Amino acid sequence: MREFKNFVVVKFGGSNFKIADDYSKVIRKIREMLEFEKSKALVVVLSAAYGVTDKLIWAVNNFQSIDVHSFLNELYDLHASFLSSNDNGGYSQTNEELQYLKSKVFELEKIFDALKLLGKVPDFAKDLIVSYGERLNAYVVYRLLLREGLDFELRNPKEWIITDGKFGNASVLLEQTRALFEKGLSEWNANHSIVPGFYGSSKNGDLTLLGRGGTDYTATVLAYALNAEYVVLFKDVDGLLSGDPKIVKNPMLLDKLSYDEIEELSYFGAKVVHPNTVEPIKNSSIPLYICNFLEDFNLSKCTVISSEKHRSERCVKSVSFTDDVAIVQFFGANLGRVPGVLGEIAKSMAQAGLNIKFVITSQTAINLIVSKKDLPEVMRVSERLRLIEIEEVSYRTDKALVAVVGYGLLDTHGIAAKVFGALAEGKINVDMISAGACEVSMYFLVDAQNVKDAVRLVHKSLFEEKNN
Ligand code: ASP
Ligand code: MG
Repeated sequence: MREFKNFVVVKFGGSNFKIADDYSKVIRKIREMLEFEKSKALVVVLSAAYGVTDKLIWAVNNFQSIDVHSFLNELYDLHASFLSSNDNGGYSQTNEELQYLKSKVFELEKIFDALKLLGKVPDFAKDLIVSYGERLNAYVVYRLLLREGLDFELRNPKEWIITDGKFGNASVLLEQTRALFEKGLSEWNANHSIVPGFYGSSKNGDLTLLGRGGTDYTATVLAYALNAEYVVLFKDVDGLLSGDPKIVKNPMLLDKLSYDEIEELSYFGAKVVHPNTVEPIKNSSIPLYICNFLEDFNLSKCTVISSEKHRSERCVKSVSFTDDVAIVQFFGANLGRVPGVLGEIAKSMAQAGLNIKFVITSQTAINLIVSKKDLPEVMRVSERLRLIEIEEVSYRTDKALVAVVGYGLLDTHGIAAKVFGALAEGKINVDMISAGACEVSMYFLVDAQNVKDAVRLVHKSLFEEKNN
């Protein structure tokens, strides 16, 4: 019987599951959390084991040439070896577990056979196959928890998470999802749950993926649906940093960020969390903690993301970048003066289901910044637009975007001077600047080949130089 009323959601990512030994560490971490939150219901959300999602995507893309049987055998062996992980040496995999695992893995054989017959991969089949990474891993962890005598049930997100049905990159319909939980929760028996991340189901019952890195999003969706007290994402680092340690020198650890700041950061490059992660928890102000897996669990040592609009001394909290930008440029002598042109452009893009990251306009040009993968479609829609004000449309893909994020940066004296001064000194040309669209961030475009230098210089001027 379920006795605990309040929920805490915890997510483990692919890097927590590389070798069999890692599984013991995850189980120990779960025990630690159960100890810390003695009377709370734990919801553990899992990614696929390390590298497995990539392998599945590779297999789908090469479905005609791969040896499916040996591919699946490898997948089976890998997960069987994880099942052998144990802490006290007292257990090893049972036949029942191995058989179940085998039957799960080899369900994929029939799907691959069907693809070979069809000669192509329908979107729904790709999502279905790629979701097996999470499903297999959740099964493994679930069995390991049961062996420890812990009170867990394995839940199937297809029954609980409703999406908009967009294959490969679906969004969750939060209210409908929450209603399912409200209705179904009374039937849960165990106190604690294991949930594979990364997918849900469309209203028609098709499995849909939530986009790469989507397990973060699953975690916050569940937190919203269960009105959880908080969410923890475990990483191999001490929370979030002011810059990518592979690029900048001595990045600072951030102790707190606001929902808006993290949204800006993840939208524009920083591969910290899935871009939709914050949306489900923002309105109900459920805090999100990013904690170091390698340290003892202690919320006060994690980065906390909440509704608090904290203004740090430096204002700027982080500098990040992305090279996934394409610029679509509309030229025309009167573009800036005629009302409604931008509206028309934006409407056509929205109708075609295309996302504009942001827009920079001038008197004679409108620049749409979009993701590279959307460029062909955006160009197609643009060329079909029949607006007399538009004389020419072109695009470029040789730029990258740098984002500087932090509350108060737009009204703090001297930040722009530091940023652009550092770039000028480094002889890096800035193409377009957008500031003011949102009170927490500023973006600019530079030549893609200079972007890492730009990030390094800006970070240095804001964080590493004296008099800061
Ligand atoms: N396994 C999926 C991916 O690699 C989802 C996740 O890790 O969050 O994208
Ligand atoms: Mg992952």
